[in-house]
Amino acid sequence: MADRSQTHYEVIVIGAGVAGIYQIKRLADLGIDATVLEAAPDLGGTWYWNRYPGARFDSESYTYGYSFSKELLNEWHWKERFSGQPENLRYLNYVAEKFDLRRHMQFNCRVEAMAFDEEENLWRLSLDDGRELTCRFVMMALGLLSTPTYPRIPGMERFKGRSFHTFHWPHEPLDLSGKRVAVIGTGATAIQVIAEIADKVGQLTVFQRRPNWSAPLNNGPISEAEMADIRARYEEIFAACARSPGGFEHEPDRRGFYEVSAEERRALWDRLYDEPGFGIWLANFREIFMDEAANAELSAYIAERIRGRVKDQAVAEKLIPKDHGFGVQRVPLETRYFEVYNRDNVELVDISETPIEAVTETGLRTSARAFDFDIIVYATGFDAITGAFDHIDIQGAGGQRLREKWAEGPSTFLGLMIHGFPNLFMAGGPQSGSASTNYPRGIETAVNWCTDLLQHIRARGHVRAEATAEAEARWTAHVTKMYASMLMRKAKSWFTGYNSNVPGHEQGKIRYFVYNGGAPKYVARIEEVAAMGYEGIDFSPASAPAARAPAVEARQAAG
Ligand code: NAP
Repeated sequence: MADRSQTHYEVIVIGAGVAGIYQIKRLADLGIDATVLEAAPDLGGTWYWNRYPGARFDSESYTYGYSFSKELLNEWHWKERFSGQPENLRYLNYVAEKFDLRRHMQFNCRVEAMAFDEEENLWRLSLDDGRELTCRFVMMALGLLSTPTYPRIPGMERFKGRSFHTFHWPHEPLDLSGKRVAVIGTGATAIQVIAEIADKVGQLTVFQRRPNWSAPLNNGPISEAEMADIRARYEEIFAACARSPGGFEHEPDRRGFYEVSAEERRALWDRLYDEPGFGIWLANFREIFMDEAANAELSAYIAERIRGRVKDQAVAEKLIPKDHGFGVQRVPLETRYFEVYNRDNVELVDISETPIEAVTETGLRTSARAFDFDIIVYATGFDAITGAFDHIDIQGAGGQRLREKWAEGPSTFLGLMIHGFPNLFMAGGPQSGSASTNYPRGIETAVNWCTDLLQHIRARGHVRAEATAEAEARWTAHVTKMYASMLMRKAKSWFTGYNSNVPGHEQGKIRYFVYNGGAPKYVARIEEVAAMGYEGIDFSPASAPAARAPAVEARQAAG
Protein backbone atom coordinates (compact mmCIF):
# COMPACT_ATOMS: atom_id res chain seq x y z
CA MET A 1 0.00 0.00 0.00
CA ALA A 2 1.23 3.49 -0.81
CA ASP A 3 2.93 5.61 1.82
CA ARG A 4 0.35 8.16 2.94
CA SER A 5 2.91 10.48 4.51
CA GLN A 6 4.35 11.48 1.13
CA THR A 7 2.96 14.86 0.10
CA HIS A 8 4.47 15.46 -3.35
CA TYR A 9 4.46 13.29 -6.47
CA GLU A 10 5.45 13.92 -10.02
CA VAL A 11 2.13 12.49 -11.24
CA ILE A 12 -1.15 11.90 -9.44
CA VAL A 13 -3.69 9.68 -11.14
CA ILE A 14 -7.27 10.20 -9.96
CA GLY A 15 -9.29 7.00 -10.18
CA ALA A 16 -8.36 3.32 -9.90
CA GLY A 17 -10.70 1.94 -12.53
CA VAL A 18 -9.81 0.46 -15.90
CA ALA A 19 -8.00 3.64 -17.01
CA GLY A 20 -6.23 4.41 -13.74
CA ILE A 21 -4.90 0.86 -13.43
CA TYR A 22 -3.32 1.00 -16.88
CA GLN A 23 -2.01 4.54 -16.34
CA ILE A 24 -0.20 3.62 -13.13
CA LYS A 25 1.24 0.53 -14.82
CA ARG A 26 2.79 2.74 -17.52
CA LEU A 27 4.12 5.25 -14.99
CA ALA A 28 5.52 2.54 -12.70
CA ASP A 29 7.32 0.94 -15.66
CA LEU A 30 8.95 4.28 -16.43
CA GLY A 31 10.02 4.71 -12.82
CA ILE A 32 8.00 7.93 -12.48
CA ASP A 33 7.07 8.90 -8.94
CA ALA A 34 3.29 8.54 -9.09
CA THR A 35 0.30 7.51 -7.03
CA VAL A 36 -3.35 6.73 -7.64
CA LEU A 37 -6.03 8.34 -5.47
CA GLU A 38 -9.32 6.48 -5.36
CA ALA A 39 -12.46 7.49 -3.47
CA ALA A 40 -13.76 3.90 -3.23
CA PRO A 41 -12.50 1.38 -0.66
CA ASP A 42 -10.83 -0.62 -3.44
CA LEU A 43 -9.90 -0.65 -7.12
CA GLY A 44 -12.15 -1.47 -10.06
CA GLY A 45 -14.19 1.69 -10.77
CA THR A 46 -17.37 0.69 -12.61
CA TRP A 47 -16.73 -2.95 -11.79
CA TYR A 48 -16.20 -2.21 -8.11
CA TRP A 49 -19.47 -0.31 -7.77
CA ASN A 50 -22.05 -1.79 -10.12
CA ARG A 51 -22.89 -5.04 -8.34
CA TYR A 52 -26.51 -5.26 -9.40
CA PRO A 53 -27.65 -8.68 -10.62
CA GLY A 54 -27.09 -8.98 -14.35
CA ALA A 55 -24.24 -6.43 -14.56
CA ARG A 56 -21.94 -7.59 -17.33
CA PHE A 57 -19.95 -6.48 -20.38
CA ASP A 58 -21.61 -5.60 -23.62
CA SER A 59 -18.16 -5.82 -25.23
CA GLU A 60 -16.86 -9.29 -26.06
CA SER A 61 -14.82 -10.10 -22.92
CA TYR A 62 -11.63 -10.80 -24.87
CA THR A 63 -11.86 -7.37 -26.55
CA TYR A 64 -12.40 -5.68 -23.19
CA GLY A 65 -9.29 -7.03 -21.46
CA TYR A 66 -6.04 -5.06 -21.60
CA SER A 67 -3.92 -5.72 -24.67
CA PHE A 68 -0.56 -4.52 -23.29
CA SER A 69 0.82 -7.79 -21.93
CA LYS A 70 1.12 -11.00 -23.93
CA GLU A 71 1.70 -12.87 -20.69
CA LEU A 72 -1.54 -11.55 -19.23
CA LEU A 73 -3.43 -12.42 -22.41
CA ASN A 74 -2.05 -15.94 -22.23
CA GLU A 75 -2.88 -16.41 -18.58
CA TRP A 76 -6.43 -15.14 -18.35
CA HIS A 77 -9.36 -17.34 -19.30
CA TRP A 78 -12.56 -15.43 -19.97
CA LYS A 79 -15.35 -17.80 -18.99
CA GLU A 80 -18.19 -16.08 -20.82
CA ARG A 81 -18.37 -14.20 -24.08
CA PHE A 82 -19.83 -11.26 -22.11
CA SER A 83 -18.39 -11.62 -18.68
CA GLY A 84 -20.26 -10.66 -15.50
CA GLN A 85 -19.30 -8.11 -12.83
CA PRO A 86 -17.78 -10.52 -10.26
CA GLU A 87 -15.43 -11.99 -12.86
CA ASN A 88 -14.59 -8.54 -14.28
CA LEU A 89 -13.61 -7.29 -10.84
CA ARG A 90 -11.53 -10.46 -10.30
CA TYR A 91 -9.76 -9.72 -13.57
CA LEU A 92 -8.84 -6.16 -12.59
CA ASN A 93 -7.58 -7.40 -9.22
CA TYR A 94 -5.56 -10.07 -10.98
CA VAL A 95 -3.94 -7.42 -13.19
CA ALA A 96 -3.14 -5.22 -10.17
CA GLU A 97 -1.63 -8.16 -8.26
CA LYS A 98 0.32 -9.48 -11.23
CA PHE A 99 2.00 -6.15 -11.90
CA ASP A 100 2.25 -5.21 -8.23
CA LEU A 101 0.24 -2.04 -8.72
CA ARG A 102 -1.55 -1.85 -5.40
CA ARG A 103 1.53 -0.39 -3.76
CA HIS A 104 0.94 2.72 -5.88
CA MET A 105 -2.71 3.06 -4.91
CA GLN A 106 -4.48 4.87 -2.08
CA PHE A 107 -8.14 4.10 -1.37
CA ASN A 108 -10.87 5.88 0.56
CA CYS A 109 -9.56 9.28 -0.43
CA ARG A 110 -11.66 11.58 -2.53
CA VAL A 111 -10.16 14.58 -4.24
CA GLU A 112 -12.43 17.46 -3.31
CA ALA A 113 -10.56 20.34 -4.89
CA MET A 114 -7.48 20.99 -6.98
CA ALA A 115 -5.91 24.24 -8.05
CA PHE A 116 -3.05 25.03 -10.40
CA ASP A 117 -0.27 27.01 -8.80
CA GLU A 118 1.13 29.14 -11.60
CA GLU A 119 4.22 30.24 -9.70
CA GLU A 120 5.38 26.72 -9.01
CA ASN A 121 3.70 25.02 -11.98
CA LEU A 122 2.16 22.46 -9.66
CA TRP A 123 -1.29 21.14 -8.91
CA ARG A 124 -2.39 21.45 -5.29
CA LEU A 125 -4.96 18.81 -4.33
CA SER A 126 -7.23 18.83 -1.27
CA LEU A 127 -8.53 15.42 -0.15
CA ASP A 128 -11.54 14.59 2.00
CA ASP A 129 -9.23 12.99 4.57
CA GLY A 130 -7.73 16.41 5.22
CA ARG A 131 -4.48 15.92 3.29
CA GLU A 132 -3.05 18.46 0.88
CA LEU A 133 -0.90 16.96 -1.88
CA THR A 134 1.06 18.51 -4.72
CA CYS A 135 2.15 17.15 -8.06
CA ARG A 136 3.48 18.40 -11.37
CA PHE A 137 0.95 16.49 -13.48
CA VAL A 138 -2.54 15.14 -12.95
CA MET A 139 -4.10 12.32 -14.92
CA MET A 140 -7.89 12.30 -14.66
CA ALA A 141 -9.05 8.67 -14.89
CA LEU A 142 -12.52 9.38 -13.55
CA GLY A 143 -14.59 7.05 -15.73
CA LEU A 144 -17.42 7.99 -18.06
CA LEU A 145 -20.34 6.86 -15.92
CA SER A 146 -19.19 7.18 -12.32
CA THR A 147 -21.54 9.82 -10.92
CA PRO A 148 -24.95 8.19 -10.36
CA THR A 149 -28.02 10.40 -10.44
CA TYR A 150 -31.24 9.96 -8.49
CA PRO A 151 -34.60 11.33 -9.56
CA ARG A 152 -36.00 14.25 -7.61
CA ILE A 153 -39.24 12.73 -6.31
CA PRO A 154 -40.90 14.16 -3.20
CA GLY A 155 -40.73 11.86 -0.19
CA MET A 156 -37.79 9.68 -1.24
CA GLU A 157 -36.29 9.88 2.24
CA ARG A 158 -39.55 8.67 3.84
CA PHE A 159 -39.51 5.15 2.35
CA LYS A 160 -39.21 2.55 5.16
CA GLY A 161 -38.03 -0.33 2.96
CA ARG A 162 -34.67 -0.53 1.24
CA SER A 163 -33.91 1.77 -1.66
CA PHE A 164 -30.71 2.38 -3.62
CA HIS A 165 -29.30 3.32 -6.99
CA THR A 166 -28.07 0.37 -9.07
CA PHE A 167 -24.55 1.83 -8.73
CA HIS A 168 -24.91 1.38 -4.96
CA TRP A 169 -26.49 -2.08 -5.04
CA PRO A 170 -25.61 -3.65 -1.65
CA HIS A 171 -22.32 -5.51 -1.55
CA GLU A 172 -23.67 -8.09 0.88
CA PRO A 173 -26.12 -10.71 -0.44
CA LEU A 174 -29.65 -9.34 -0.80
CA ASP A 175 -32.50 -11.80 -0.46
CA LEU A 176 -35.04 -10.96 -3.15
CA SER A 177 -37.28 -13.99 -2.77
CA GLY A 178 -40.90 -13.08 -2.21
CA LYS A 179 -40.04 -9.35 -2.21
CA ARG A 180 -42.11 -6.65 -3.91
CA VAL A 181 -39.56 -4.77 -5.97
CA ALA A 182 -39.84 -1.54 -7.96
CA VAL A 183 -37.34 -0.65 -10.68
CA ILE A 184 -37.42 2.96 -11.88
CA GLY A 185 -35.85 3.43 -15.31
CA THR A 186 -35.48 1.31 -18.43
CA GLY A 187 -31.94 2.13 -19.59
CA ALA A 188 -29.13 -0.39 -20.21
CA THR A 189 -28.71 -0.97 -16.47
CA ALA A 190 -32.41 -1.52 -15.77
CA ILE A 191 -32.70 -3.84 -18.76
CA GLN A 192 -29.95 -6.04 -17.29
CA VAL A 193 -31.28 -6.01 -13.73
CA ILE A 194 -34.95 -6.52 -14.65
CA ALA A 195 -34.19 -9.56 -16.81
CA GLU A 196 -32.01 -11.07 -14.09
CA ILE A 197 -34.32 -10.62 -11.08
CA ALA A 198 -37.79 -11.13 -12.59
CA ASP A 199 -37.89 -14.83 -11.69
CA LYS A 200 -36.26 -14.32 -8.27
CA VAL A 201 -38.59 -11.72 -6.75
CA GLY A 202 -42.17 -11.98 -5.55
CA GLN A 203 -43.52 -9.08 -7.61
CA LEU A 204 -41.63 -6.77 -9.97
CA THR A 205 -43.01 -3.41 -11.06
CA VAL A 206 -41.11 -1.52 -13.75
CA PHE A 207 -41.65 2.24 -13.98
CA GLN A 208 -40.86 3.30 -17.52
CA ARG A 209 -40.76 6.91 -18.68
CA ARG A 210 -39.34 6.27 -22.17
CA PRO A 211 -38.65 2.83 -23.62
CA ASN A 212 -35.22 2.00 -24.99
CA TRP A 213 -34.41 0.06 -28.12
CA SER A 214 -32.71 -3.13 -27.10
CA ALA A 215 -31.43 -6.27 -28.84
CA PRO A 216 -30.26 -9.70 -27.68
CA LEU A 217 -26.82 -10.08 -26.15
CA ASN A 218 -26.66 -13.78 -27.14
CA ASN A 219 -24.16 -14.57 -24.40
CA GLY A 220 -22.57 -17.98 -23.92
CA PRO A 221 -19.69 -19.75 -22.20
CA ILE A 222 -16.16 -19.80 -23.59
CA SER A 223 -14.66 -23.28 -23.43
CA GLU A 224 -10.97 -24.12 -22.95
CA ALA A 225 -10.67 -24.88 -26.65
CA GLU A 226 -12.34 -21.62 -27.68
CA MET A 227 -10.14 -19.68 -25.30
CA ALA A 228 -7.05 -21.32 -26.80
CA ASP A 229 -8.25 -20.22 -30.23
CA ILE A 230 -8.88 -16.67 -28.97
CA ARG A 231 -5.38 -16.56 -27.47
CA ALA A 232 -3.89 -17.59 -30.78
CA ARG A 233 -5.85 -14.85 -32.54
CA TYR A 234 -5.39 -11.98 -30.08
CA GLU A 235 -3.31 -9.93 -32.52
CA GLU A 236 -5.91 -10.35 -35.22
CA ILE A 237 -8.73 -9.52 -32.76
CA PHE A 238 -7.11 -6.30 -31.53
CA ALA A 239 -6.28 -5.33 -35.12
CA ALA A 240 -9.96 -5.75 -36.02
CA CYS A 241 -10.94 -3.58 -33.03
CA ALA A 242 -8.44 -0.92 -34.15
CA ARG A 243 -9.98 -0.92 -37.65
CA SER A 244 -13.58 -0.63 -36.51
CA PRO A 245 -15.12 2.76 -35.65
CA GLY A 246 -16.41 1.51 -32.29
CA GLY A 247 -13.28 -0.36 -31.20
CA PHE A 248 -15.22 -3.63 -31.24
CA GLU A 249 -14.85 -6.73 -33.37
CA HIS A 250 -17.92 -5.61 -35.28
CA GLU A 251 -17.14 -3.70 -38.45
CA PRO A 252 -19.80 -1.88 -40.46
CA ASP A 253 -21.30 -3.52 -43.53
CA ARG A 254 -19.58 -1.58 -46.29
CA ARG A 255 -22.39 -2.12 -48.81
CA GLY A 256 -24.60 0.87 -49.39
CA PHE A 257 -28.01 0.54 -47.71
CA TYR A 258 -29.76 1.39 -50.96
CA GLU A 259 -27.44 -0.73 -53.11
CA VAL A 260 -28.99 -3.91 -51.77
CA SER A 261 -32.61 -5.04 -51.86
CA ALA A 262 -34.99 -4.86 -48.90
CA GLU A 263 -34.79 -8.69 -48.76
CA GLU A 264 -31.01 -8.59 -48.48
CA ARG A 265 -31.22 -5.99 -45.72
CA ARG A 266 -33.68 -8.17 -43.87
CA ALA A 267 -31.46 -11.21 -44.29
CA LEU A 268 -28.57 -9.28 -42.73
CA TRP A 269 -30.74 -8.16 -39.82
CA ASP A 270 -32.12 -11.68 -39.26
CA ARG A 271 -28.55 -12.91 -38.96
CA LEU A 272 -27.24 -10.06 -36.80
CA TYR A 273 -30.18 -10.18 -34.37
CA ASP A 274 -29.20 -13.72 -33.43
CA GLU A 275 -25.47 -13.10 -33.26
CA PRO A 276 -23.64 -12.16 -30.06
CA GLY A 277 -23.05 -8.55 -29.13
CA PHE A 278 -23.28 -5.24 -30.91
CA GLY A 279 -23.41 -6.64 -34.47
CA ILE A 280 -27.01 -5.51 -34.98
CA TRP A 281 -25.86 -1.97 -34.11
CA LEU A 282 -22.29 -1.73 -35.38
CA ALA A 283 -22.03 -4.35 -38.15
CA ASN A 284 -25.05 -2.77 -39.78
CA PHE A 285 -25.22 -0.39 -42.73
CA ARG A 286 -23.55 2.93 -42.01
CA GLU A 287 -26.65 4.83 -43.19
CA ILE A 288 -28.63 3.80 -40.11
CA PHE A 289 -26.79 6.46 -38.10
CA MET A 290 -27.42 9.31 -40.53
CA ASP A 291 -30.32 8.62 -42.86
CA GLU A 292 -33.84 8.95 -41.41
CA ALA A 293 -35.44 6.52 -43.88
CA ALA A 294 -32.73 3.87 -43.44
CA ASN A 295 -32.99 4.18 -39.68
CA ALA A 296 -36.80 4.01 -39.80
CA GLU A 297 -36.69 0.75 -41.79
CA LEU A 298 -34.32 -0.85 -39.29
CA SER A 299 -36.37 0.47 -36.36
CA ALA A 300 -39.53 -1.06 -37.87
CA TYR A 301 -37.70 -4.38 -38.14
CA ILE A 302 -36.63 -4.31 -34.47
CA ALA A 303 -40.14 -3.27 -33.41
CA GLU A 304 -41.50 -6.31 -35.23
CA ARG A 305 -39.07 -8.54 -33.32
CA ILE A 306 -40.25 -7.03 -30.03
CA ARG A 307 -43.91 -7.61 -30.97
CA GLY A 308 -42.99 -11.22 -31.66
CA ARG A 309 -41.55 -11.67 -28.18
CA VAL A 310 -44.18 -9.96 -26.00
CA LYS A 311 -47.56 -11.69 -25.74
CA ASP A 312 -49.68 -8.70 -24.73
CA GLN A 313 -49.51 -6.38 -27.73
CA ALA A 314 -50.54 -3.35 -25.68
CA VAL A 315 -47.46 -3.95 -23.51
CA ALA A 316 -45.32 -4.56 -26.61
CA GLU A 317 -46.34 -1.16 -27.99
CA LYS A 318 -45.30 0.48 -24.75
CA LEU A 319 -41.89 -1.17 -25.00
CA ILE A 320 -41.26 0.17 -28.52
CA PRO A 321 -39.65 3.62 -28.60
CA LYS A 322 -41.49 6.18 -30.67
CA ASP A 323 -39.35 9.26 -30.05
CA HIS A 324 -36.05 8.03 -31.51
CA GLY A 325 -34.79 5.39 -33.88
CA PHE A 326 -32.78 2.25 -33.19
CA GLY A 327 -29.10 2.86 -32.50
CA VAL A 328 -29.10 6.62 -32.14
CA GLN A 329 -28.54 6.06 -28.43
CA ARG A 330 -26.14 3.43 -27.14
CA VAL A 331 -28.09 0.17 -27.55
CA PRO A 332 -28.70 -1.81 -24.37
CA LEU A 333 -28.13 -5.52 -24.96
CA GLU A 334 -30.51 -7.88 -23.21
CA THR A 335 -31.04 -11.47 -22.21
CA ARG A 336 -34.72 -12.48 -22.38
CA TYR A 337 -35.70 -8.93 -21.36
CA PHE A 338 -38.85 -8.70 -23.43
CA GLU A 339 -40.06 -12.14 -22.30
CA VAL A 340 -40.03 -10.83 -18.72
CA TYR A 341 -43.24 -8.96 -19.52
CA ASN A 342 -44.98 -12.27 -20.26
CA ARG A 343 -44.65 -13.24 -16.60
CA ASP A 344 -47.57 -12.96 -14.17
CA ASN A 345 -45.40 -11.37 -11.45
CA VAL A 346 -44.19 -8.48 -13.64
CA GLU A 347 -46.03 -5.25 -14.36
CA LEU A 348 -44.99 -2.38 -16.63
CA VAL A 349 -46.17 1.05 -15.51
CA ASP A 350 -45.95 3.79 -18.11
CA ILE A 351 -45.08 6.88 -16.10
CA SER A 352 -45.23 9.07 -19.18
CA GLU A 353 -49.01 8.53 -18.83
CA THR A 354 -49.29 8.33 -15.05
CA PRO A 355 -46.25 10.08 -13.52
CA ILE A 356 -44.78 9.19 -10.14
CA GLU A 357 -46.03 11.86 -7.76
CA ALA A 358 -44.35 10.79 -4.54
CA VAL A 359 -42.42 8.13 -2.72
CA THR A 360 -44.35 7.14 0.38
CA GLU A 361 -43.38 5.28 3.56
CA THR A 362 -44.54 2.03 2.01
CA GLY A 363 -43.94 2.50 -1.70
CA LEU A 364 -44.79 4.88 -4.51
CA ARG A 365 -47.76 6.85 -5.69
CA THR A 366 -48.40 7.65 -9.33
CA SER A 367 -51.15 9.94 -10.59
CA ALA A 368 -53.30 6.79 -11.00
CA ARG A 369 -52.66 4.63 -7.94
CA ALA A 370 -50.53 3.68 -4.94
CA PHE A 371 -48.05 0.77 -4.84
CA ASP A 372 -46.45 -0.99 -1.86
CA PHE A 373 -42.86 -2.20 -2.09
CA ASP A 374 -40.14 -3.80 -0.01
CA ILE A 375 -37.35 -2.52 -2.25
CA ILE A 376 -37.09 0.43 -4.64
CA VAL A 377 -34.26 0.31 -7.19
CA TYR A 378 -33.28 3.55 -8.88
CA ALA A 379 -31.84 2.57 -12.26
CA THR A 380 -31.82 6.22 -13.19
CA GLY A 381 -28.45 6.66 -14.86
CA PHE A 382 -25.48 8.94 -14.52
CA ASP A 383 -24.29 12.50 -14.80
CA ALA A 384 -22.17 11.24 -17.67
CA ILE A 385 -18.58 12.13 -18.49
CA THR A 386 -18.43 15.69 -17.16
CA GLY A 387 -20.32 14.88 -13.93
CA ALA A 388 -17.24 13.39 -12.26
CA PHE A 389 -15.21 16.49 -13.21
CA ASP A 390 -17.96 18.81 -11.92
CA HIS A 391 -17.84 17.09 -8.53
CA ILE A 392 -14.25 18.21 -8.00
CA ASP A 393 -13.64 21.93 -7.58
CA ILE A 394 -11.00 22.26 -10.32
CA GLN A 395 -9.35 25.65 -10.59
CA GLY A 396 -6.99 26.23 -13.46
CA ALA A 397 -4.67 29.05 -14.49
CA GLY A 398 -5.95 32.48 -13.55
CA GLY A 399 -8.41 30.94 -11.08
CA GLN A 400 -10.80 29.77 -13.78
CA ARG A 401 -13.09 26.95 -12.64
CA LEU A 402 -13.57 23.99 -14.94
CA ARG A 403 -17.21 23.58 -14.03
CA GLU A 404 -17.77 27.20 -15.11
CA LYS A 405 -15.79 26.80 -18.31
CA TRP A 406 -17.87 23.73 -19.15
CA ALA A 407 -21.20 25.09 -17.87
CA GLU A 408 -22.69 25.09 -21.36
CA GLY A 409 -20.81 21.96 -22.45
CA PRO A 410 -17.23 20.73 -22.63
CA SER A 411 -14.48 22.07 -24.83
CA THR A 412 -11.18 20.19 -25.05
CA PHE A 413 -8.15 19.55 -27.19
CA LEU A 414 -8.48 15.98 -28.54
CA GLY A 415 -10.53 15.09 -25.46
CA LEU A 416 -7.16 14.77 -23.73
CA MET A 417 -6.27 18.29 -22.53
CA ILE A 418 -8.02 21.55 -21.67
CA HIS A 419 -6.90 25.09 -22.39
CA GLY A 420 -6.45 27.00 -19.13
CA PHE A 421 -5.76 23.78 -17.20
CA PRO A 422 -2.05 23.08 -17.72
CA ASN A 423 -0.41 19.78 -16.85
CA LEU A 424 -3.77 18.05 -16.67
CA PHE A 425 -4.53 15.07 -18.90
CA MET A 426 -7.65 12.98 -19.34
CA ALA A 427 -8.16 9.32 -20.16
CA GLY A 428 -11.78 9.04 -21.16
CA GLY A 429 -12.45 12.76 -21.21
CA PRO A 430 -15.32 14.32 -23.11
CA GLN A 431 -14.76 14.58 -26.87
CA SER A 432 -12.12 11.83 -26.78
CA GLY A 433 -12.15 8.58 -28.70
CA SER A 434 -12.64 6.69 -25.43
CA ALA A 435 -16.03 8.25 -24.80
CA SER A 436 -17.72 6.52 -27.74
CA THR A 437 -15.78 3.28 -28.18
CA ASN A 438 -15.14 -0.04 -26.50
CA TYR A 439 -13.75 1.66 -23.40
CA PRO A 440 -10.51 -0.25 -22.73
CA ARG A 441 -9.49 0.05 -26.37
CA GLY A 442 -10.05 3.80 -26.15
CA ILE A 443 -8.30 4.34 -22.84
CA GLU A 444 -5.23 2.31 -23.82
CA THR A 445 -4.84 4.73 -26.72
CA ALA A 446 -5.35 7.76 -24.49
CA VAL A 447 -3.06 6.54 -21.72
CA ASN A 448 -0.30 5.68 -24.22
CA TRP A 449 -0.60 9.09 -25.88
CA CYS A 450 -0.52 10.97 -22.58
CA THR A 451 2.40 8.89 -21.32
CA ASP A 452 4.35 9.58 -24.53
CA LEU A 453 3.63 13.26 -24.06
CA LEU A 454 4.81 13.09 -20.48
CA GLN A 455 8.09 11.56 -21.65
CA HIS A 456 8.41 14.30 -24.25
CA ILE A 457 7.91 16.95 -21.56
CA ARG A 458 10.36 15.36 -19.13
CA ALA A 459 13.02 14.77 -21.76
CA ARG A 460 13.00 18.46 -22.62
CA GLY A 461 12.86 19.80 -19.10
CA HIS A 462 9.51 21.53 -19.52
CA VAL A 463 7.50 22.19 -16.40
CA ARG A 464 4.28 23.26 -18.01
CA ALA A 465 2.25 21.99 -20.97
CA GLU A 466 -1.03 23.51 -22.02
CA ALA A 467 -3.32 23.14 -25.02
CA THR A 468 -3.66 26.43 -26.86
CA ALA A 469 -7.01 28.20 -27.04
CA GLU A 470 -6.92 27.94 -30.79
CA ALA A 471 -6.22 24.18 -30.87
CA GLU A 472 -9.02 23.59 -28.40
CA ALA A 473 -11.47 25.72 -30.37
CA ARG A 474 -10.61 23.83 -33.56
CA TRP A 475 -11.10 20.43 -31.97
CA THR A 476 -14.36 21.37 -30.27
CA ALA A 477 -15.69 22.81 -33.54
CA HIS A 478 -14.71 19.58 -35.31
CA VAL A 479 -16.48 17.41 -32.70
CA THR A 480 -19.53 19.70 -32.83
CA LYS A 481 -19.70 19.65 -36.61
CA MET A 482 -19.78 15.87 -36.73
CA TYR A 483 -23.00 15.78 -34.71
CA ALA A 484 -24.74 17.70 -37.50
CA SER A 485 -24.84 14.62 -39.72
CA MET A 486 -25.78 12.15 -36.98
CA LEU A 487 -29.34 11.24 -36.01
CA MET A 488 -27.92 10.91 -32.50
CA ARG A 489 -28.18 14.69 -32.13
CA LYS A 490 -31.96 14.37 -31.87
CA ALA A 491 -31.97 11.77 -29.11
CA LYS A 492 -32.16 12.40 -25.40
CA SER A 493 -29.22 10.39 -24.11
CA TRP A 494 -25.88 10.80 -22.40
CA PHE A 495 -24.25 11.06 -25.84
CA THR A 496 -25.91 14.49 -26.08
CA GLY A 497 -25.43 15.35 -22.42
CA TYR A 498 -29.08 14.79 -21.49
CA ASN A 499 -30.04 13.93 -17.92
CA SER A 500 -33.36 15.08 -16.49
CA ASN A 501 -32.00 14.82 -12.95
CA VAL A 502 -29.08 17.22 -13.38
CA PRO A 503 -29.93 20.92 -13.41
CA GLY A 504 -28.98 22.38 -16.76
CA HIS A 505 -28.76 18.97 -18.45
CA GLU A 506 -32.47 18.58 -19.15
CA GLN A 507 -33.32 18.36 -22.80
CA GLY A 508 -32.91 21.53 -24.79
CA LYS A 509 -29.26 22.11 -25.33
CA ILE A 510 -26.98 19.51 -26.87
CA ARG A 511 -23.67 19.00 -25.17
CA TYR A 512 -21.05 17.67 -27.53
CA PHE A 513 -19.80 14.86 -25.35
CA VAL A 514 -18.46 12.27 -27.75
CA TYR A 515 -16.18 12.14 -30.77
CA ASN A 516 -18.15 10.60 -33.61
CA GLY A 517 -15.45 10.13 -36.20
CA GLY A 518 -14.63 6.56 -35.13
CA ALA A 519 -11.52 5.11 -33.51
CA PRO A 520 -9.27 4.86 -36.61
CA LYS A 521 -9.65 8.56 -37.50
CA TYR A 522 -9.25 9.56 -33.88
CA VAL A 523 -6.05 7.59 -33.45
CA ALA A 524 -4.67 8.91 -36.75
CA ARG A 525 -5.33 12.49 -35.63
CA ILE A 526 -3.75 12.23 -32.19
CA GLU A 527 -0.73 10.42 -33.64
CA GLU A 528 -0.37 13.16 -36.22
CA VAL A 529 -0.38 15.78 -33.45
CA ALA A 530 2.39 13.86 -31.64
CA ALA A 531 4.43 13.38 -34.80
CA MET A 532 4.34 17.13 -35.39
CA GLY A 533 6.02 17.76 -32.05
CA TYR A 534 2.67 18.11 -30.25
CA GLU A 535 1.30 20.89 -32.38
CA GLY A 536 -1.41 22.71 -30.45
CA ILE A 537 0.35 22.45 -27.08
CA ASP A 538 2.44 25.24 -25.57
CA PHE A 539 5.41 24.11 -23.52
CA SER A 540 7.38 26.15 -21.06
CA PRO A 541 10.07 26.89 -20.50
CA ALA A 542 10.49 26.63 -24.27
CA SER A 543 13.58 24.60 -25.01
CA ALA A 544 15.68 24.10 -28.12
CA PRO A 545 13.26 22.60 -30.61
CA ALA A 546 13.61 18.86 -30.86
CA ALA A 547 11.96 17.79 -34.07
CA ARG A 548 10.31 14.57 -32.94
CA ALA A 549 9.03 13.12 -29.74
CA PRO A 550 11.30 10.27 -28.55
CA ALA A 551 8.35 7.92 -28.12
CA VAL A 552 7.23 8.54 -31.68
CA GLU A 553 10.77 8.00 -32.96
CA ALA A 554 11.05 4.79 -30.99
CA ARG A 555 7.80 3.50 -32.43
CA GLN A 556 8.83 4.39 -35.94
CA ALA A 557 12.20 2.72 -35.48
CA ALA A 558 10.36 -0.38 -34.33
CA GLY A 559 8.40 -0.25 -37.56
P1 NAP B 1 -29.56 5.58 -18.73
O1 NAP B 1 -29.35 4.94 -20.03
O2 NAP B 1 -29.37 7.05 -18.62
O3 NAP B 1 -31.03 5.19 -18.25
C1 NAP B 1 -31.62 5.80 -17.17
C2 NAP B 1 -33.08 5.38 -17.12
O4 NAP B 1 -33.69 5.97 -15.99
C3 NAP B 1 -33.86 5.86 -18.33
O5 NAP B 1 -34.82 4.90 -18.65
C4 NAP B 1 -34.50 7.15 -17.83
O6 NAP B 1 -35.69 7.51 -18.49
C5 NAP B 1 -34.82 6.72 -16.41
N1 NAP B 1 -34.93 7.90 -15.54
C6 NAP B 1 -33.96 8.77 -15.22
N2 NAP B 1 -34.44 9.70 -14.40
C7 NAP B 1 -35.75 9.42 -14.20
C8 NAP B 1 -36.76 10.04 -13.46
N3 NAP B 1 -36.52 11.15 -12.77
N4 NAP B 1 -37.98 9.47 -13.49
C9 NAP B 1 -38.21 8.36 -14.20
N5 NAP B 1 -37.30 7.72 -14.92
C10 NAP B 1 -36.07 8.26 -14.93
O7 NAP B 1 -28.62 4.95 -17.61
P2 NAP B 1 -28.11 3.44 -17.50
O8 NAP B 1 -29.20 2.50 -17.78
O9 NAP B 1 -27.41 3.33 -16.21
O10 NAP B 1 -27.07 3.33 -18.68
C11 NAP B 1 -26.10 4.34 -18.91
C12 NAP B 1 -24.99 3.81 -19.78
O11 NAP B 1 -24.19 2.91 -19.02
C13 NAP B 1 -25.39 3.01 -20.98
O12 NAP B 1 -25.72 3.79 -22.08
C14 NAP B 1 -24.16 2.20 -21.24
O13 NAP B 1 -23.21 2.97 -21.93
C15 NAP B 1 -23.63 1.95 -19.86
N6 NAP B 1 -24.04 0.61 -19.41
C16 NAP B 1 -23.44 -0.45 -20.00
C17 NAP B 1 -23.81 -1.71 -19.62
C18 NAP B 1 -23.17 -2.90 -20.25
O14 NAP B 1 -23.84 -3.73 -20.78
N7 NAP B 1 -21.87 -3.01 -20.20
C19 NAP B 1 -24.80 -1.91 -18.67
C20 NAP B 1 -25.36 -0.81 -18.09
C21 NAP B 1 -24.99 0.46 -18.46
P3 NAP B 1 -35.62 8.54 -19.74
O15 NAP B 1 -35.05 7.74 -20.87
O16 NAP B 1 -37.02 8.95 -19.95
O17 NAP B 1 -34.72 9.65 -19.33
